[in-house]
Amino acid sequence: MKAQDYIDMENQYGAHNYKPLDVVLNRGEGVYVWDVDGNRYMDCLSAYSAVNQGHCQPRILAALTEQAKKLTLTSRAFRNDQLAHLYKELCELTNSHKVLPMNSGAEAVETAIKAVRKWGYQEKGVPENRAEIIVARNNFHGRTITIVSFSTDPTSTTGFGPFTPGFKIVEFGDAAALEAAITENTVGVMLEPIQGEAGVVIPPAGYLQKVRDICTKKDIVLVLDEIQTGLGRTGKLLAEEHEAIEADLTLIGKALSGGFYPVSAVLSNTEVLGVLKPGEHGSTFGGNPLACAVAREAMAVLVEEKLIENAAAMGERFMDGLRSIANPKIKEVRGRGLLLGVEFHKDAGGARQYCEKLKTAGLLCKETHETIIRFAPPLVITAEQVDCALDRIKPILCK
Ligand SMILES: *Cc1c(COP(=O)(O)O)cnc(C)c1O
Repeated sequence: MKAQDYIDMENQYGAHNYKPLDVVLNRGEGVYVWDVDGNRYMDCLSAYSAVNQGHCQPRILAALTEQAKKLTLTSRAFRNDQLAHLYKELCELTNSHKVLPMNSGAEAVETAIKAVRKWGYQEKGVPENRAEIIVARNNFHGRTITIVSFSTDPTSTTGFGPFTPGFKIVEFGDAAALEAAITENTVGVMLEPIQGEAGVVIPPAGYLQKVRDICTKKDIVLVLDEIQTGLGRTGKLLAEEHEAIEADLTLIGKALSGGFYPVSAVLSNTEVLGVLKPGEHGSTFGGNPLACAVAREAMAVLVEEKLIENAAAMGERFMDGLRSIANPKIKEVRGRGLLLGVEFHKDAGGARQYCEKLKTAGLLCKETHETIIRFAPPLVITAEQVDCALDRIKPILCK
């Protein structure tokens, strides 16, 4: 089959809820992927930061295949010999007290919402069904009905109502607005430390610290969604470290499995997760031994192969290169670690055209919100590979 045959077959039989670049991939290794015609590309999206450890990372692959031969799924009706180890290792790595494992990122977000609401009723004494959670404009936390209920992106919401009540939206980066939105029924604040899907939006310095202080003062649970920013992406294990704070609940997913398998988790620094009692929440696949074995090795790779340090160093190199591009159509280059964004002015004709040209030049990335390109290669990228990427990016982005 030719590339076009795959595309036609997908279009005929699949729902059209994505508009991918027309590149049909069948192999990956490290920072590279190959299409069905044998062309090699550097992956500068990393499956939205799920393959931080690089494609088909051999150690994680070995953990997956070894565990798959032994035991894959028991359900949580029984115990398995991997879950306890994952709990302990994740708690030690992230300085947390408790873990609740799920599969997709959206499920981790839903889990956090449930736990925070119940905590509010049980521990804070908020009247039943009145709990409020404050979120930020231009957030992205996933695609379920409850999560899109507090999205401000019309594409995410139009046609999908009625929506789940109990959420208040404030401007991202404005701590005073957040404080003003608090009522006696506010149980939680949920934010991305850097808004990924919104286009790598970094809040003003000190914002997260202020939010942390407000939440502590008002006895409100601070939930940080680090599903995209976490696990080394921004040059720290968690992006919260850039402001030396600790969330009460931290959500991780994506790179928790190095891209092999959907694994997510809610990490708790307080006893918020303690309000969930047997039978009140769960998932057939959550915490299964295959997921646990994969996640354990994915975390070990991140730490032992020094990918977090590499993300910080390579991120700086990549950012310097992008900032050296002189093009008046570019509004801003920003980022942290290897989560980088190039924003074009609104009249520049859109970011998609650049992504198409970069694809032809052997580099895959994706526009977000029409005017922004996100560059987020696997954290295993070397200095030579960063330079090679920049050699391809510069001639295309300078026009
Ligand atoms: C990707 C993402 C999610 C949703 O994860 P899924 O696995 O796609 O459900 C939630 N929050 C953030 C910040 C994300 O980037």
